[in-house]
Amino acid sequence: MKCPACGFESYEILKSKGKHSKELLLKCEGCGNIYREIVRREKPVDVRIITSEFESSKKEFIKLYPDEEFRVGDVIEFQNKKVQITSIETKRGGRINKSLVSEINTIWASSLDIPARIGISVDFGGRIISKKVDVDRDFEFHIGDVVKLGDLIFKVNSIKTIERKVRKGFAKAYVTKRVYGKPLDRGVRYNYDLSSKLV
Ligand SMILES: [Zn+2]
Repeated sequence: MKCPACGFESYEILKSKGKHSKELLLKCEGCGNIYREIVRREKPVDVRIITSEFESSKKEFIKLYPDEEFRVGDVIEFQNKKVQITSIETKRGGRINKSLVSEINTIWASSLDIPARIGISVDFGGRIISKKVDVDRDFEFHIGDVVKLGDLIFKVNSIKTIERKVRKGFAKAYVTKRVYGKPLDRGVRYNYDLSSKLV
């Protein structure tokens, strides 16, 4: 794209909008002139998307523009529903946090309309007690949290997310599959109570 005033080809993008074609508002880096350009986009492509609701998942396709970039946590529209991206697998096989559509093999997403369903396993020295809770998708589990759940009190000592095992830090509920805890005495003070979230 050339500046209509001076012919300079380098510019700053001030604004970009539109779906099938992009309307750009550009500022010439030569003379400062501001001008508009319309750029046709490449055709949308089919990208595999695996959406999950509670424990079931569906494999389908979504049409996306190859030059669009997505990241884990982004909310996209799919079949008239809002879904949140929980994982991105590239054509090279790795899982990454953000990618251009042209390099994506599969997008994993879960519905925004429903809470995150998470398994909780508390280990009483080999005897495991397992429960399920539905929590807000943005809820954060931190390693070391002391949690009340019914008549259990436990400390979070690891978290299994879609992609990895977390032993330090925290994980958002929407990427969390299971929380592992060690039991504590009942009198202990806890950080939060998930009893009302039990499924
Ligand atoms: Zn110019």
